[in-house]
Amino acid sequence: MSVTAQLLKVFRVEQQLRGLKSRLHTAEKFLAEQEKQLAGLTGQHTKLASEHKGLRATIAGEETETASIDARMAKLRDQMNSSKTNKEYSAFLAELNSLKGKKDEIEKAELGQMERVEAIKKQVDELAKSIAEREAIVSKARKDVADRAAEIKDRVDELNGQRSDLAKDVPGDALKFLSDATALHGDEAMSVVEVIDRRNHEWSCSNCQMTLPVELVNAISMHKLTRCNSCKCILFTEEDVVSKKAPKNGEVDNEDIVKSKKRVAAKKAKPAAADAAKPA
Ligand SMILES: [Zn+2]
Repeated sequence: MSVTAQLLKVFRVEQQLRGLKSRLHTAEKFLAEQEKQLAGLTGQHTKLASEHKGLRATIAGEETETASIDARMAKLRDQMNSSKTNKEYSAFLAELNSLKGKKDEIEKAELGQMERVEAIKKQVDELAKSIAEREAIVSKARKDVADRAAEIKDRVDELNGQRSDLAKDVPGDALKFLSDATALHGDEAMSVVEVIDRRNHEWSCSNCQMTLPVELVNAISMHKLTRCNSCKCILFTEEDVVSKKAPKNGEVDNEDIVKSKKRVAAKKAKPAAADAAKPA
């Protein structure tokens, strides 16, 4: 069996795995997005809660300070009442005025801080509500992921086993070739060579419809791993498919080719080209 035919077998199993895992991947993507949003909300909450705490501590400090100013001012008033000279009185008055000014300044700053504290508190409460809602969504999304993974586990294990068995016989660089093409094209990573006109040596890549040079088709028939120059899909021929499924009497009634031909027919814009694709 050619390396291409071996790769085709691996590719078919990988296709089934991808199909099977697609619902799981959708659930995983949803979960990741929800977790990201939750982390964002939690981060905002932590930041604001810490600002809230800091501001409240500042306000508490200022209140202590104004209380001590009040006490000092009361004492000064007593001292003023019992002062014996004008000079003494003036000195107490000057200190009293200076303390009044300081107290006003502190109270003005405090007012702004209290408004900010109130606004932050509102935001913190709203965030806490959003976090609780988002946590419920995340928890449901986690369950969905676990459920979907459990649903397909047995079949995935079975297919993974098949894939490892098949891959064992395939050279590493060929597998790398396949994984590169799959990263690029997913389920279209391998493309069957379409015979346009065998007598006139005309072939095309069923994936991108570009005409394939004779040398490329010759390379494939010599069992060389070959990629389409245009779309970089790994090319295989009917022979590779036949060797995989071995239809009776050399008859090519292959699913891959039927599917590929349908796709080609659907893709081809020009009716003339579609006619040309029919085997002579
Ligand atoms: Zn191509």
